[in-house]
This record gives sequence, C-alpha cells and structure tokens, in this order.
Amino acid sequence: MHKAIKVIVKGRVQGVGFRPFIYYLSKKYHLNGTVQNNLDGVIILAEGEEGQLEKMVDEIIRNPPKIAKINEINIYQIPLAHYKEFTIIPSRKNGDSIPWIPCDAAICENCLEEMNDPYNRRFQYPFINCTQCGPRYTIINRLPYDRSNTTMKEFPMCHDCKVEYEDPMNRRHHAQPICCSDCGPTVTLYNQGGKSLAENQSAITKTVDLIKQGKIVAIKGIGGFHLACDAYQEKVVAQLRLRKRRSQKPLAIMVKSIEVARNLCYISSQEEDLLTSPEMPIVILKRKREGLLPPNISPSLSTIGVMLPYTPLHHLLFEDDNLKCIVMTSANPSGLPLLYKDSHLGYLQNICDYILNHNRKIDFPIDDSVVQFDEENAIFVRRARGFVPEPLKTTSNVDNIIALGGNQKNTFSVGKQNNIVMSPHIGDLENEEMIASFEEQLYHYKEFLGVKEKYVAVDKHPLYASTSIGKTLNRKIISIQHHHAHHVSCMEDNGLNEPCLGIILDGTGYGDDGNIWGFEFLYGDAKSFERLAHLKYTPLPGGEKAVKEPWRNAVGMLLYYWPQEGKELCMKLFPDRLKEINMMEQMIVHQMNTPLAGTCGRLFDAVSAILGICSISTYEGEAAIKLSDYMNRTKLESTGEMYSFHLKSNTSNQLQLDLSPMIYQVIQDRLQQKSNPAIIQKFHTTLVSCCIQMILKIVRNRPEINRKVVLSGGSFQNVFLAKEIQKGLQKEGFNAYTHKHVPCHDGDLSLGQIIIAAHQL
Ligand code: ZN
Ligand code: ZN
Ligand code: FE
Repeated sequence: MHKAIKVIVKGRVQGVGFRPFIYYLSKKYHLNGTVQNNLDGVIILAEGEEGQLEKMVDEIIRNPPKIAKINEINIYQIPLAHYKEFTIIPSRKNGDSIPWIPCDAAICENCLEEMNDPYNRRFQYPFINCTQCGPRYTIINRLPYDRSNTTMKEFPMCHDCKVEYEDPMNRRHHAQPICCSDCGPTVTLYNQGGKSLAENQSAITKTVDLIKQGKIVAIKGIGGFHLACDAYQEKVVAQLRLRKRRSQKPLAIMVKSIEVARNLCYISSQEEDLLTSPEMPIVILKRKREGLLPPNISPSLSTIGVMLPYTPLHHLLFEDDNLKCIVMTSANPSGLPLLYKDSHLGYLQNICDYILNHNRKIDFPIDDSVVQFDEENAIFVRRARGFVPEPLKTTSNVDNIIALGGNQKNTFSVGKQNNIVMSPHIGDLENEEMIASFEEQLYHYKEFLGVKEKYVAVDKHPLYASTSIGKTLNRKIISIQHHHAHHVSCMEDNGLNEPCLGIILDGTGYGDDGNIWGFEFLYGDAKSFERLAHLKYTPLPGGEKAVKEPWRNAVGMLLYYWPQEGKELCMKLFPDRLKEINMMEQMIVHQMNTPLAGTCGRLFDAVSAILGICSISTYEGEAAIKLSDYMNRTKLESTGEMYSFHLKSNTSNQLQLDLSPMIYQVIQDRLQQKSNPAIIQKFHTTLVSCCIQMILKIVRNRPEINRKVVLSGGSFQNVFLAKEIQKGLQKEGFNAYTHKHVPCHDGDLSLGQIIIAAHQL
C-alpha cells in the first residue's frame, strides 16, 4: 500500500552526510519526497510502498553515517502529497536555532582506501576527506558551515571536485573541505632556517627518513603542530623533552596500527573501539612490559598514551615499514599555548630540526583528546579534538550566561538557549600567553554562537586570572565556590537535579572560609549547598611553593601534628632539607605565608614525598599520579588492612576527618622498610573506607537526605579511588555517580558554574 510518513531525526545529523544518505535510501527503496535540515535536525517527508518505507526507517536506525549520532527519531503518518521525485531542499534557516559547529573527524575507511589506490585521482593525497571525515571545527571561521566560511576558501574547487560536491549521490556531496591534488593544499618540508627542502610526496618520504635518523620534526596536523620523533630512540626522546621543557610528564605516542598498539599494551574491546572511532583520542593504556619502549616516554608510570594515525598525512608517514611508533606531542613548550599558525614558525624553528608544514590554515587550535578507562567506562582526561564543540543539552536556563572556569586545565562554557558549548581543554592560566589564548578563544566562541553575555560566572578565588578576565567584561558577576562547581558539574553530567550528596576529592580550591578546600562532603544542588564534612586543615608552608614541592606538604603536616617528634621525623625523611625544615618551622609558628589546607591532592603529595616517590613535582599532579600508579602496577591480594583515622564533629557541627594517625603509621612503615606497594595499598584502602564511613555517619545524623552521591574533583582521576568508593557506596545502598562527558578535574568547573549561575539568577 502507498503511504506517506514524516520522519524527524535529532542529534548529530547535520554536516555529517545525512541528507545524501537519505537521498541514497530514497533511490534504493523507490521513494519520493524531500529531505531538509532545520533547527532541530533533519526532516524527511517520504512516500512509497509501506514495506519500503519501513526498510528506509530501519536502515536510518541501523546504519546511519558513521559520524552521525541519532539521539531521537520520530515517525508520523501524514496524508499523501504525491511527490514526483525525491529532492534535497535547502536548509530552513531559523533565527532561533543554535548555530551548529561540527567536530573534526579521523579519516574514514573509504577515503583511506582511495588514498591507497594507485588508480584513484586522490592517490597518496594527504588532504583527502569526505562528509564522513576530515577537519571541521579547526577550519571554520564563521557560520553557517559553508566552504566560503572555512580556511578552504583559498582553494577554489577544480571541475572534478565540483562535480562530486554537487552530486547528491556522491559521498562528497557538500563536503566543505573537499579537494584534490589539482586544487587543494600542499605539504612542504622546511629546514631549521626556513628553507624549503621538498614538497608533497617527497616531503613526506624525507620526513620519514629524518625521523628514522633521530631528528625532531614539527608536523602540522588538524589542530596545531606536533613534535614527532622516533619513539624507540631514547636519545632523541630525551632531546625532545629538553627542548619542550618537559622533563617527566608522559609523552603520547602514535602507532602505525592497532596491531602495533597491541604488541605494546593491553587493550580491552572498549579501548579498541575508542582508539579506532572517528574521534580517535589518545587512550591511556597499560604497558605490556618494561623495555619495549625507552623508559623516558612515560617515566615511572606503567601506562602510556597511545593514538592511531588520524589524518591522511599521518597514514602516509607510516607507509614506511620501518616506522612503527613515533612520539607525537603538541609542539608548544610546557605551559604555553598550542602552536598552529605560520607566524609561530620562527618559534618552532628553535625547538625542532625540521618542519613539515602545509598551507591549509587552522582557525581554531585544538589539542588531542585524552581518555582513560576505569574498567568499563571512558573518563575524559582532556576533552578536545573530536568531542568539542558538541553542545551539551541542559534543562537549566543558561541562555546568555558564560562561565570562565578556574585556573588549572581550564575550559570555559557558553550558554545558548538550552545548550552549553564548552571550550576545548585550554590549559593552565599561569602566564600572559595562556591568558591571551583563553581570551581569544572566548571571544571567538561568543562571536560564533552570537552570544552577548549578560552574566559571567567565575570561581571565588580572588587571584585567578579567569576571575579577572570575568571582571573586565563589565557584566553581572556571579562568584561560585570551587567545590560546589565540581559537585553541580557532576550532577549535570548525570542529569541529576534534586539535591544530593557529593564527595569532592580535589587539589586546591578556594573555600568560603578563606582556607584551601579539597576533601569535601557536600549536600546540595545548583541553588545552594551545605558543607557537611571535610578533612582537617594542616598548614601549607609557602602556599603555592608547597604545591610544586610535595615534600613541603609532608613537613607542614608533621610539624603541625607533632611539633617535637614531627621535626625529628622530618629530618629522618628529608635529611638534606634541614635548613628549610627549620625555616618552615618558623613560618608555621608565626603563621607567615602558611595558608591552611585540607585537600586530597595535598595529602597524596605528602604521602608520595614521605615514601620517596616524588618530592618535587615537574607537572601538575605528578606526585599523586606516580603514587597511584603503584595500584595498577602490582596486583596485590586485597588484605583489607588499613591505617587508623578519627572522625570528630567541630563547633559548627561539621564532621572532621583527622588522618594524622594514618600519616604517623605510614611513616613508621616507611622507616621500618616496609615495601611501598604494601603501604600504598593500605593508604588507598584507608581513604576508601573513611569516605564511606563519613557518608554513613552523615546520613545517620540526617536520615532524610537523598542517597545519591556524586564523585568529582581531580583526585578521582585515580581509578582505584573512583571505582572502590563507588562500589563501597553501592554496597551500603547509595547510588554513586562519576563523570561521563567532562573530566572530573578543574576542566569541569565551567560546566558546574554555568548551571549554578542559571539557578541563582
Ligand atoms: Zn572520508
Ligand atoms: Zn580538486
Ligand atoms: Fe578542583
């Protein structure tokens, strides 16, 4: 029977080849009608045999274009209009729609096949792409997403490309970056002096030779320049670290294929799915054994960040059989913004030996995304390429609010109707360059999305650069407590609206009492929160300096808890720091430059220093990361053994966690030469147990409160803590939630802030 239906498909369905896909289905199933983009998604009006219509719908659901993501599909019976053919009709532009910016995607299988086919006209062409793959976000400078608004406008399409572009049956129909070797960008290899050495295929072959010879080559990718070198050559890796001013922080590697990755690391099926997805992030994997790669790739860690080649250019590099694994790290020196423009070349020349450049401009820089698995779920360590700027839907009224995040690993969020568009991971706002880059990206996002903010949400910390930037915007400022933002960010990430409990284990955040918080038990929602419990404060002699030098944390704790014996212990643990220990003692006694802190991050720092694992951090979180790495390295039998701690109520009826007995016992174990893995396991077990007991004690006093618990804050990057606290709470009848779409560290603050601002207005 002849019937007519209207199908509305919502989700990531625009600019991903959805209309040509529907057009193709209309031919396959002999249907007439139309397909059109509108503000919410794709609308299909289709007429034909009932059975054929059903098959079309079935295929839309089962087999959509690979980079499409269908969130919702609605089908309605409508009267027949007797269309004579099937047509793609122009997008309906509606002023209310949220401007939509697609994400960059890794090269698809079809393009890869064509690139390797000597008879194809794009054979070995490093910029091959289609509706299913290629650059997007990084090349768009204005909306709507048309070629004339991308950096590809400098390359007029040749006749053949134009024919493909205009053909609705072609998989490059309306692929805005479409090009070929006749009309598109080219690659050029330069030496340090800026002299051009080779072009196109020969530039790529030469680059491979240089990498094999132990040179460092800067390679322009989708979102910026990487530094590349042979990952098997320890000497050049050391050289690269020196030039990037990055002595210890792990370096990511790019490997030829999933098989090579499997030789080096353990890979679960979920990890493999993500490694090979169109987003192709760096996935943090467990190394198989020592000695396969030089130790200076990820010093003192059992894991390594791995990604697969995601641009056609990367694939061409790996055509050489002797190249299997290269270090691929963003080219910027540590702590500085990404390098992505031609004007950065002079700077690049100082840190690399050669530059493989190309002339497709990058308008928006973006870093590689980094993801880690906690057994089954993916957790973002860095949300960037492939995931940004996909909007997060919200039920809160965030329209015209912007939120500027915190200081470390920062992001901002922009509200447009019921969407939150979060920036990619930008980094630490510790210097002028980073602050300028943050402001520039913020400006672009507002322009892009047409947002004229009325309200600006910032962290309460009076000295954060993001807070100062917020003030210069001359809008109503809403200041938000750091851990409240973490709490609400995790609620939003899990679609929770009603007040709930939160365990926020974090580095440092400015507390409402002016002290440094970071081991918090909160209860509340976006409107307000109560602080029900926290870790007892100890002095942090030197403030910021103690954050960079974990051993100072340990000394602060010891001198505070046991003024006499503590000093002796300090001298035993850190015998070459005698002078500084004396100085710190004075600082604590006279309360000079000695803020009070109760944070999980600083606790890990102290224990890491006490155990001799890391006494000075060269990157944020190093001491804690190296300490917790012991938990995945050695699979110890769980003994259930733990250290002691006290729970007490203070005058304002808050529970206080006193971990001094644990610290004392850790030191005794250390001095008695107990093994680090055993101490570290006991330490972790203690932390899990005290968190569960705190929550139990809280609900005993307040039986009426909601038994949902959100877990947020940077310390939850520690997979053991996250998993075990979650399991422990579930055993006691709670529902525990961790982050899903944003990281748990300070990269999530802007999300929490924008939601809180929406509810406090
Ligand atoms: Zn493709
Ligand atoms: Zn062409
Ligand atoms: Fe934080």
